[in-house]
Amino acid sequence: MFLPTRCALCDRSGSPVCEACLSSYSSEPLVVQRSCLTGFALADYSAVVANMIEQFKEHGQTSIFRSFSALMSQVFLFGLKAANLGPLERLVLVPVPSRREASLKRGFQPAREIAAPMVAELRRSGTSVGLVNALRYQREVLDQSGLNIAERSANLAGAMQSRFSLAGLAVVLIDDVCTTGATLLEAARACEAAGASVKFFCTFAETKRKLAT
Ligand SMILES: [Zn+2]
Repeated sequence: MFLPTRCALCDRSGSPVCEACLSSYSSEPLVVQRSCLTGFALADYSAVVANMIEQFKEHGQTSIFRSFSALMSQVFLFGLKAANLGPLERLVLVPVPSRREASLKRGFQPAREIAAPMVAELRRSGTSVGLVNALRYQREVLDQSGLNIAERSANLAGAMQSRFSLAGLAVVLIDDVCTTGATLLEAARACEAAGASVKFFCTFAETKRKLAT
């Protein structure tokens, strides 16, 4: 018997995410500012988005984010235009790494699962961009949830490093969610320490939730 697969978001037919749901995310990206770093996000961190990210990260539903690759590519192109980057820049996407413990538990790195189909989509549409899995944690850090803004920064200070030189590269950071921005700011610091120029970041969602301090 043929069983149609259902949309992960609304349960209508269409897999993994139906056209109707995808089209509800196609408006202009959100502009996100965290300290001196500017970024662009596809969606606000609503209950639906939070649930989708949980399905993706904690239940390994990586196909959900492959269906968003065209929309995430649009977020990137919007950022490129906003940042006034010329065609001669050596552009690379750098996924923000997960903590070692989380990667071992999940068996994959969420930001890489978002970035890889974006690069494929961008290349298909004629935008030359590379993918560099450069960053890693050079020491153990605590899970950021449950920490306040000051604690998050202290937890991450100097925690990441690039595996190799990024000299001469224009970097766009990729992550699933931007909350306080502490992780993205640490990733930017590590890329610049390796010689890159960090231009902006793209995330699937951003949250303006106020964290208890
Ligand atoms: Zn749907």
